[in-house]
Parts: sequence; C-alpha cells; structure tokens
Amino acid sequence: MSDQPWFDATPEQLDFESDGLRRYWVQLDYRQGDRPQRMVWPLVICRHGSGPSVLVTGGTHGDEFEGQIAATELIHRLEPTRVSGLLMIAPTLNRPACLAGMRRSPIDDADLNRRFPGLAGEGPSAAIARFVTGALIARAEIAIDIHSGGEAMEFVLSSNLQGRPGSPELRAGLPALMAFDAPYAIVFDEVKAEGAMPHRGTLEGAARELGKFAISSEIGGAGRVTPASMQVARDGLRNLLHHFGVLKDPAARLVAQSRSRLLLLARAEHYLAAPVKGHFLPRCWLGDEVERGQPVADLYQLESGNLARQEVKATSSGIVVAAARRGPVLPGEDLLYIAEPFSP
Ligand SMILES: [Zn+2]
Repeated sequence: MSDQPWFDATPEQLDFESDGLRRYWVQLDYRQGDRPQRMVWPLVICRHGSGPSVLVTGGTHGDEFEGQIAATELIHRLEPTRVSGLLMIAPTLNRPACLAGMRRSPIDDADLNRRFPGLAGEGPSAAIARFVTGALIARAEIAIDIHSGGEAMEFVLSSNLQGRPGSPELRAGLPALMAFDAPYAIVFDEVKAEGAMPHRGTLEGAARELGKFAISSEIGGAGRVTPASMQVARDGLRNLLHHFGVLKDPAARLVAQSRSRLLLLARAEHYLAAPVKGHFLPRCWLGDEVERGQPVADLYQLESGNLARQEVKATSSGIVVAAARRGPVLPGEDLLYIAEPFSP
C-alpha cells in the first residue's frame, strides 16, 4: 500500500464518500500577520463497506511521538478491503509543531489542544482546529486522539477516557478504554483548579460537544519514544480499531482479555504541585503505590543560603501515574499525579 500516490487537495475537494483509499496533502490556508499562507497537511481517507466512522489523530502535541508514528504505520499497512466503514487518519495534527518536535506550533506558539473548535482566529493552529472540527470530527462517530506526556511529564503507559464516575456515558465508554489494553486505563474527570487536566479547548472536548465518542491516551512522554511505549501505542490502536469494528484484526486483544489496571484521576488532591521553587527529586516512581501523607519527593533550594531541602508529602493515596520530567520547578507546577484504583 505504501507506494500509493498522494494528491494535493483543498478541503472542498476531499472525497469522503467514494469507496477506496485516498491519500491527501490538504491545503490549509491561514494568515501570518497580514500575509496569506498555505500549509500542506497529510490526511488519509478510507471508506469501504458499512461500519462506523472513526478519526485517528496523532501529533496534536508535536513533542509526543508515539501517536504520530502509530498513525503513520497504520497508513502504510492499511488494506482498504479490510475496512468496514470510514477511517480518517491524520498522523501529524499540529504539523508545524510535529516537524519541529515541539509541543506548540513554532509559527503561532499555540497549543493546538487548547484551540478547539478553532472557530476564531486566523493563524495556522486555528485553521487546523477549524478544519478538523468541521470536516473530520463532524463526520466521525468516534475520535481516537493519541497523546503521550510530552517534554514536561512522563506518564505510565495508559489509555485515557474523560467522564464522570457513575454516568451512563462513562459506563458506555469503559469497554473501549479497557480494549486499548495498555498497562493502565485512566478515567479523568473535571477538576475545577485552573490549568488542571482535563483542559478546555481539546480535540476530545470538541468531539464530545458534537455528541461523538472520544478516547485518548498518555503513553509515556518525557519528550522521547521507547520501544515499550511504541508497542503499547501500536497495539492499543490496533485493539481499538478492532473493538469499534472499523478494522478487524485477528491479532487484536478483546475487552474481556484486557490487562489494563483501571484508575481514576479526578480530584484536586490527585495532582501534587510544588509548594515552593526548587529542584525536584522524586522518592517514588511511575507505578509505585503511595499513601496520603507519605513523603514522595524532595525539593532542593539550591539558591538558598543553606541549600534547604523541603519534603513534599503525597496529597492522596494511590498509584503514581505521572511525574515531572524537569529538575527545576516553580511553585504550583505539577510534580506527581496520583490516581486511585477505580471500580465502576
Ligand atoms: Zn498531548
């Protein structure tokens, strides 16, 4: 399949309806200052038979690599006759950021995952968000947006679902969360604190606003990709596409066989922030079980006259699911995320 040609197309020229596989360089127009600009943006559309319409996206953050690679691999191995429904694959969503290997676009310094649905704005990130919302999410029943921790954080290898515990929406989505079969399956819920996850303006949020099912992941991070994180991303995407029925794969693991450990990350105390400025030294690591009140990190104040050290205690009991990557941290910056075991 990999020798199939790519075609330049404007958004209006894209063919979502015909049977078969089409590879496009979509021409997205935007403005930079007063100057009109055009970006070419890869999109693969495959329609065959009947089944769900599914959007797969990688590279919403350019410093998270597993999704970009897994979606690209999917494009290369895709056999159209095995698809049931409509499969849309956008491997480098924030393309300028992906090419630069940066979280944000180097053109407009925008975090694309805070810009959805992109109704306002003339810059490249708004243009991408607007196109993805109007042309792709609008046509999809299911959105799979593959994330990792990026340069700032490292996460346990996990599938993610946003939802309120006890809600019918969450109950309906849990099989997909488990089907991903990452070592961990994490349910996120709204936290009122400013800046806390889940954030506003995300692709997932835009999809849910339009009544679509959206699922995501945090597969490692720390600004790098590892063989283990890549394998979880690759297998997770395969398992999910099989679960939804859009791309059946005999090698897929079924929900009932899932090995994922289900966790909940939903309350302010699950997010442990630095109380003071300092150099962060964790005393525990990803996957460790900690008790509330247990010292879990130290902050060394290397600038202070007596090289002071401040102990940081866990604000919650549970499993450490994310850790800051950087040594020096400012007050209020995230140090550790501690998720609690969850049984729906
Ligand atoms: Zn991300």
